[in-house]
Amino acid sequence: MTKELYRITLLSLAVNLFLSLFKIFLGFWGRSQAVLADGIHSLSDLATDLLTLLGLKYASYPPDEDHPYGHRRIETLISVTIGLVLTVTALGLIGKAFVTFKHLKVLTPLKPFVLVAPILSIVSKELLYRITLKVGVKAHSPAVVANAYHHRSDVLSSFPALIGAGLSSISPHLAFCDPLGSLIVSFLILKSSWQIVRPGIEELCDGMDIEEARQIKREVLKVKGVKDVHRVRTRKHGGHTLVDLHIQVEPELTVREGHHISERVKDYLLTRYERVVDVVVHLEPYEHKSSPEAKSSPGHQEDVRADERPSGRPENRS
Ligand SMILES: [Zn+2]
Ligand SMILES: [Zn+2]
Repeated sequence: MTKELYRITLLSLAVNLFLSLFKIFLGFWGRSQAVLADGIHSLSDLATDLLTLLGLKYASYPPDEDHPYGHRRIETLISVTIGLVLTVTALGLIGKAFVTFKHLKVLTPLKPFVLVAPILSIVSKELLYRITLKVGVKAHSPAVVANAYHHRSDVLSSFPALIGAGLSSISPHLAFCDPLGSLIVSFLILKSSWQIVRPGIEELCDGMDIEEARQIKREVLKVKGVKDVHRVRTRKHGGHTLVDLHIQVEPELTVREGHHISERVKDYLLTRYERVVDVVVHLEPYEHKSSPEAKSSPGHQEDVRADERPSGRPENRS
């Protein structure tokens, strides 16, 4: 699978290299602000492809002594970096469009040949979006899925460039359409960068997918020998899921039997959910709800949400 990810990113890199050079060249030659902005956007795409390649290279490294969970979070780090680079690029383009508005009188109508660049860009990026999304979803790779959505936003962002430059080529009175197109392109880049940054930040802040945790709890209750489940906690790790949970079993079982059940829970979750990559099971004797011991133990609430502690250091109750 990793080979496929490499190939899709290399393809993206080649397309972005060609498109950025072509659009920047035509934008300069045809003096179109919108086409130039579109080209600079492709140049930033090229940079993100290079970052993604580096991420794939290091994220697939197996766990080692000083990184026992593996290296998948490098991918998260790179997704966030890509998003931030895009944000800065978009802000730069917005500034540039406003500068151009101030010098509108100097502008002459655009030559229609500049329109070749956005048209070519729209067609090739739509194809790239479809191929990349397929690969990224299949591989559970947030960086590749992020790149796919990025290709789609490239498609959309080339439309204002096409329309803006197109209208500007019709008449000098419509010259303002070109920097206006550039401005719209920039806001679209801002939006796509937020889409890329958000899940990465969520992961770096240990955000839990509550629905996923509930689902895991329901599934674990189906495992033979499990009497009760609580304190299901999940964390994201490069788009994959790390799980730790407490299970309760018959108090009279031997250590070997109890351990066997906890191994079953782990194997069940690892095979049932492709995205779950690690499960830590804590074993406890099953106490009936009515017993005073269970009631007085605050670590054993039923609800997933109730297991989250509101503030301070997480307590390490049984
Ligand atoms: Zn074990
Ligand atoms: Zn417990």
